[in-house]
Amino acid sequence: MAAKRTHAAMNAPDDVDDPVGPEDELMFIALGGGNEVGRSCHILKYKGKTVMLDAGIHPAYDGLAALPFYDEYDLSSVDLLLITHFHMDHAASLPYVLAKTNFDGRVYMTHPTKAIYKHLMQDSVRVQNTHVASSTASGTDGYVNQLFNEQDLHDTLPRIQTVSFHTTHTHNGIKFTPYPAGHVLGACMYLIEIAGLNILFTGDYSRESNRHLIPAAVPRGVRVDCLITESTFGISTQRPRYEREAQLMNTITRILNRGGRVLLPVFALGGAQELLLILEEYWTRHEDLQRFPIYFASNLARKCMVVYQTYIDAMNDNIRSKFQASGGTGEGGPWDFKFIRSLKSLERFDDVGGCVMLASPGMLQNGVSRTLLERWAPTEKNGVVITGYSVEGTMARTIQNGPDSIPAVMTQRQVQSAVLGKKAGGDQPVMIPRRCTVEEITFAAHVDGTENRDFIDEVNAPVVILVHGEKHAMGRLRSRLLGMGKFKVYSPQNCEELRIPFRQDKVARVVGRLANEIQPPALLPSPPASLDEEMEGTEEGAEEGKKRRQLQLQQEGQMVSGVLVQNDFKLQLMAPDDLKEYAGLTTTTILCRQRITLATASVELIRWALEGTFGAVANISDKEEGVKAETNGIENGFSSKGSDETQQHHTTFEVMGGAVRVICHQPSGEVEIEWEGNVMNDSIADAVIAVLLTVESSPAAVKQSSRMSGQNHDHNHKHDYDAFGDSPVDEKRENGFEKELAVRNPHANVSPEENLNRLFMFLEAQFGEEAITPITTPKLRVDNITNPNGKEDDDSMKDDVVRSKAEAAELARLHELGIPVPGLEIRVGKNIAKVWLEKLDVECPNKTLGERVKAVVERAVATLAPIWQ
Ligand SMILES: [Zn+2]
Ligand SMILES: [Zn+2]
Repeated sequence: MAAKRTHAAMNAPDDVDDPVGPEDELMFIALGGGNEVGRSCHILKYKGKTVMLDAGIHPAYDGLAALPFYDEYDLSSVDLLLITHFHMDHAASLPYVLAKTNFDGRVYMTHPTKAIYKHLMQDSVRVQNTHVASSTASGTDGYVNQLFNEQDLHDTLPRIQTVSFHTTHTHNGIKFTPYPAGHVLGACMYLIEIAGLNILFTGDYSRESNRHLIPAAVPRGVRVDCLITESTFGISTQRPRYEREAQLMNTITRILNRGGRVLLPVFALGGAQELLLILEEYWTRHEDLQRFPIYFASNLARKCMVVYQTYIDAMNDNIRSKFQASGGTGEGGPWDFKFIRSLKSLERFDDVGGCVMLASPGMLQNGVSRTLLERWAPTEKNGVVITGYSVEGTMARTIQNGPDSIPAVMTQRQVQSAVLGKKAGGDQPVMIPRRCTVEEITFAAHVDGTENRDFIDEVNAPVVILVHGEKHAMGRLRSRLLGMGKFKVYSPQNCEELRIPFRQDKVARVVGRLANEIQPPALLPSPPASLDEEMEGTEEGAEEGKKRRQLQLQQEGQMVSGVLVQNDFKLQLMAPDDLKEYAGLTTTTILCRQRITLATASVELIRWALEGTFGAVANISDKEEGVKAETNGIENGFSSKGSDETQQHHTTFEVMGGAVRVICHQPSGEVEIEWEGNVMNDSIADAVIAVLLTVESSPAAVKQSSRMSGQNHDHNHKHDYDAFGDSPVDEKRENGFEKELAVRNPHANVSPEENLNRLFMFLEAQFGEEAITPITTPKLRVDNITNPNGKEDDDSMKDDVVRSKAEAAELARLHELGIPVPGLEIRVGKNIAKVWLEKLDVECPNKTLGERVKAVVERAVATLAPIWQ
């Protein structure tokens, strides 16, 4: 099996091992035309783009039942709707879609399609308004009942945009190109490209050369990933065209010669025009036939003749040369018939003898063709020739089975109420005997089985979806295609959702200055094509090959980083500076600045606080400070040396690798916080400000400020506990031992109060707020108690005076350290644990609780940097 894989199959994702995500799936759903002919409407969705193909109605049903299953899909999500041709089963529910649903996309069709569509739809709404479908020369079969009115049609026409064959259009990132599809005037296939995925939708198509149309051809130079094709004829083949034409003429002359009337039920537009050309040509050549009139009973066709005379360019060379020969006017041109008479209505028809009558609708459901069928069927001289494709469930199909009688359109009840003016009788149809001959000679402009298979083979898409075919015919074609072993073939039912994975590599183009950074491939002289073989096996060859492989690796291994810009499906990688030029995008940076005044905290304390929260804080102030100071000095008219006393010091710290800058102005105490605004930096800045505000209210800062006001304060007594914020600050200031201090106190950079708060937080989280109470009485150590004799005396411990003195001293000492209370008491049930804050000792008679408290304290310390050492 693996050996059989073709390049096409490689794209078929089931065959590859890598998983394909939903974003790589092409979704297909037929809202109509799935395992049926009629109400064609398909939805394609890929990479978030939705395309709707055709919007028809089903000729065998009435009213809403004739619509595709529009309720099954949210039409508001459709980006664009492409109509292949004007036939009712492809375009007739478009006014409904535009006027009555939440569809909000664009609609495209070719110029001739729109011109005829307009006439066709106008005709259909008039028929439905007058309710005289059975007696007018309507071509629309009257099956657009009540779906929309003339106003709807009028309002929605401007929303339809027109396109020409072979022109490519883009809407919302979806590219599409119409190609001639043969079939009828203006009919097209659409090649659709979404994010590099090419989908070809044939619509109804024909590859046969006929008298007026350009046959369909496989689009040149395009890789098609998915082909959606009609399958009307399944695998059945048609006899050659000239044989069919001869057979048609034989049949017609035979009926005429036996004195009969020939009924050719046709759809008013499309196949009928081709038949007219055949008949006109034959009548021109056969004088003996010219005594038999040919009628075309279709007002619609008559109105549309002007369209046929206008869009000569959309037809084949045969028509174009005839048009040119006629001098470019309608008169004497290809559509100016000598032997064909247009019939406005049956009332004007003098039914006296042999004639050829083309009448619509082609399916014989009602209208002129049905009226004539019912009139002519009982006479055996007459003949009916079916030339189009007859949809299952219609009279055109039924009559081919040669029934002895056919039901009249009017039921007994209708007949009686019409005749007697009262309601009577049953709903049984009035049966009409069928004695006329019935033959089918198909000129349906669809590919037959062989033509379709050849086309599919030539397009060579790995995925084929069959639509527009009856279950049986479609199924046989599917088996035939699967037998070829080249494609995945789907034939979905209506509303059955297909999800077809397509793996696409994401490729971004590197543009702008970033492109220059990429090492260009070394320009090795490219060896002649045969070199590989020639040099193979030789030493030089091996060397050369190695070099090239290395080079290739080098090129493949280059890493490039930049901004990835996606415009629809186009990816470009560029340097941020190129955004404006290459992507039309402007970039903005917002510099945020906030100022607070910290009256009491010193620069060093600020630094310590910041370090405690953010880790290393870079001091980048030295250089800038000097410059600023000098500038200030000059601006103030003083030399920098002379203005030392009043000079402002700027100390700048960078927090979190420069995300936030903190600029401390001394002696004003103003602190500027500066950062480039983005989500990340904003939150860091918030944290910095919070830390700074805490520092300001910390006891250390308060003490420092009081000390700073007393200039001659003696600091020496504090040397014992230089681990606490205020002490080193003062020392630093006086002695300039900044570096030394930093080494000695790597963790003493968070205010004790803050750390205590954090410890509280941890304990509260573990034991609950109520469980924790501060201990206000310090635990006295032996050396706290000093008796007047300088000796330890156990008895003196009981001395209240001494004791309270000692306690006061101890409290004072702890306060000096920034420890607000000596300890915390944690109460769990009957058990009490004590945490002494200075050394974080845990005391607890209950071992379990003690261990737990210890663990929490340890974790708090480990998480937050040591609290006090
Ligand atoms: Zn068609
Ligand atoms: Zn069709």
